[in-house]
Amino acid sequence: MSRTRIPPFKLELIPLDDEARANPPGFPYARPPTGQRHRIGGDPDFLQHVEWPRCPQCGEEMSFYAQIDSLNRQFAIADVGMIFVFLCFDDFTASALVQST
Ligand SMILES: [Zn+2]
Repeated sequence: MSRTRIPPFKLELIPLDDEARANPPGFPYARPPTGQRHRIGGDPDFLQHVEWPRCPQCGEEMSFYAQIDSLNRQFAIADVGMIFVFLCFDDFTASALVQST
């Protein structure tokens, strides 16, 4: 199966304990949507050009599954970067990329 586009869903962060409530997401010096780009499906908001990932098992282009944004200054991914997750629905092999501004 070639790559499949999943309908886009925005993910919102809800703190699950007191430590999370004391370390809220977001960046006081970066404009939205920085820190709010968490998503399942849709199209990746790549920060740099990238060769679309291929499945190491079957060689087909993988489906974009999700992107995870930097949480806050303490848990920033490099320079306010993101993690992009790809999946092959035939082999259930996953791959992830990290990009930073
Ligand atoms: Zn595959």
